[in-house]
Amino acid sequence: MPTTDDIGQGRAESMRDLLEEAAQRALSYLGHLPQRPVAAACDAPELMRMLGEGDLPFEGRAPAEVLALLDEVGRQGTVASAGPRYFGFVTGGSLPIALAANWLAGAWDQNAFSEMSSPMGAAVERVALSRVLGVLDLPRISQGAFVTGATMANFTALAAARRRVLLAHDHDVDKDGLTNAPPITVAVGESAHATVLKAIGLLGLGRASVVKVAADAQGRMCPDALSRLKGPAIVCAQAGNVNTGAIDPIRRICAQVPAEDVWVHVDGAFGLWVRALRSVDALDIEPSRKAEASRIAEQGVGLEDADSWATDAHKWLNVPYDCGIALVRDAEALRGAMSMQADYLPQATRCEPFEHTPEASRRMRALEVLAVLDTLGARGLCALIERNCHQARRFAESLSAAGFEVLNEVALNQVLVSFGDDATTLKVIRALQEEGTCWCGGTRWQNRDAMRISLSSWATTDDDVDRSLEAMLRVARDIVG
Ligand SMILES: *Cc1c(COP(=O)(O)O)cnc(C)c1O
Repeated sequence: MPTTDDIGQGRAESMRDLLEEAAQRALSYLGHLPQRPVAAACDAPELMRMLGEGDLPFEGRAPAEVLALLDEVGRQGTVASAGPRYFGFVTGGSLPIALAANWLAGAWDQNAFSEMSSPMGAAVERVALSRVLGVLDLPRISQGAFVTGATMANFTALAAARRRVLLAHDHDVDKDGLTNAPPITVAVGESAHATVLKAIGLLGLGRASVVKVAADAQGRMCPDALSRLKGPAIVCAQAGNVNTGAIDPIRRICAQVPAEDVWVHVDGAFGLWVRALRSVDALDIEPSRKAEASRIAEQGVGLEDADSWATDAHKWLNVPYDCGIALVRDAEALRGAMSMQADYLPQATRCEPFEHTPEASRRMRALEVLAVLDTLGARGLCALIERNCHQARRFAESLSAAGFEVLNEVALNQVLVSFGDDATTLKVIRALQEEGTCWCGGTRWQNRDAMRISLSSWATTDDDVDRSLEAMLRVARDIVG
């Protein structure tokens, strides 16, 4: 085993030495996470200098020396987003079992594109997919794809949607393209995530040609306008508005558009996990918390009526980046959009990974999903989601009690807070980020600047909430006076 004296001395020569050194460095990094400032110490240009700009030298260096440099620079250039007090964007940490599975998958280095290239890859994906469908209680006939994130999951599911709504009009878009296809109406909620529009653009459906459907004050799509929708059409609903956490009334949306040539897709990057709260009765928590959790769970009723769902595992499921999941009820539509043929490919079996994903070669990212789900069980997953929602309510209640305005109904894991006028709110956000106890980003909500607090990490304890609240209130009072 290399000692600390060896680190950076280039003495770790064998595979074992190098990997043990990497594990030690990783453990030391993770050990410091709860104490260190959450923001990065250095900016990207400084880090580039530390990494050494310029051409690749002709001679390489000892792997241990390279590892040491990456670790030292990484400590200064990483954000402690895997730690317990990072509340920016919607960011999960990595559960220990997820990181452990990630290391194993890295060592296996499987090409998870087919059963032939990796029997384990194919088996893990199928088992993980059925676990996900089970714990979210979505139609078991659905097929799915493990992709890099919700952006690609949206893209994948919408490709299946595009195929089916046009097949209903006797047009095979994957074979014949969009040129002579009947135009598809794409309806999105006013507060749809930017990546849904990006996916729509990538599919040739035009980011700016979408029909924007009005939303309520929490960003929930109003379903009534959809009754006039004529196919071929795709409705992009949302479970988990990135600012408020609000979930669209999916059951009512689906009831408005029962036609064969209208597809309802749900972007549930983090909000889809609300379905895990179904088992809340089995949790060992106070009755009042149970009642709150049951109310939250009700928002997810009816999500099963949709045609497809996109979600992230690297947010609320707390696996490492990058992992998103596309789920599609009509397996043939997904397969028709994603399948390919080549002389060297195995004969299609209808459940090969490459028949359902935009990629061919890919890492075995489903391993981390399977490892986390089997470790947590339905109860542990429910407890994680419930705890984060409860922590969000604690933030909201304490900030309101201190006289600051919470701008959203805290119905999930997101809190929007204003510290006064826009300039003051921006000042508080910046000062809090510099203070270092925790990290929250800013956003615009209904023409006001707000600080956004997202509770999505397994690592956040109630004590972390207290410490972060103390820092927020101290920093805000310093500025507001
Ligand atoms: C994060 C998010 C996305 C994009 O997900 P990526 O994993 O970043 O690709 C899409 N929709 C919503 C609602 C999100 O929160």
